[in-house]
Amino acid sequence: MVRQLDYSDMKEVFRRFEEREPEPVGELNYTNAFTLLVAVALSAQATDVGVNKATKGLFEVADTPAKMLALGEEGIISHIRTIGLYRNKARNVLKLSALLQERFGGEVPSSRAALETLPGVGRKTANVVLNTWFGFPAQAVDTHIFRVGNRSGIAVGRNVEVVERAIEDNVPVEFQRHAHHWLILHGRYTCKARAPLCPVCLIRDICLYDEKTVAGGKTSARIDP
Ligand code: SF4
Repeated sequence: MVRQLDYSDMKEVFRRFEEREPEPVGELNYTNAFTLLVAVALSAQATDVGVNKATKGLFEVADTPAKMLALGEEGIISHIRTIGLYRNKARNVLKLSALLQERFGGEVPSSRAALETLPGVGRKTANVVLNTWFGFPAQAVDTHIFRVGNRSGIAVGRNVEVVERAIEDNVPVEFQRHAHHWLILHGRYTCKARAPLCPVCLIRDICLYDEKTVAGGKTSARIDP
């Protein structure tokens, strides 16, 4: 198993991420805390591109809990039926909107515990909202972060909870806020699942993965920087 990178390597990894992209942003479209919450809830087992296509029309007519309630389940479905599990998701968006109205005055709460009381909102969704909207250094570990963390040694762990803790424990505090987006984007565009682009990777000389790809698509036990 890949070992955890040490402090100086972690600093250097995130210094490079920051130099390349000082203010990384996610790829889901939203206009306020509520639409961000809905977009993230809809994104489970769906691509950001697919969610953005569906939410474009949805958020034009319903960008608050009250408007979402007025739209109703069938109205929501008419916008999101291209997304997987759309019936369940529409039901959750409706219930979530009702709860936001009843318990939180129509506002999205800013604590993880409160967010997790909402239907369809688990720890990962709550962490994305806390990080992206409220600026809290919460780490939402998705499939990309899990893969990048374990391959490279940035955050090693058998499951998402352990990887989340590894990020919190090992990423220098000044990089915690943006670590989530840097790692997702790195996984999506460079450290891809099937064929990581190691020859052009920003951190290939630090990464501990022992099956790095080389130009031409083969793998090598070791590539020198
Ligand atoms: S060198 Fe390869 S395996 Fe390591 S982080 Fe970069 S793309 Fe991923």
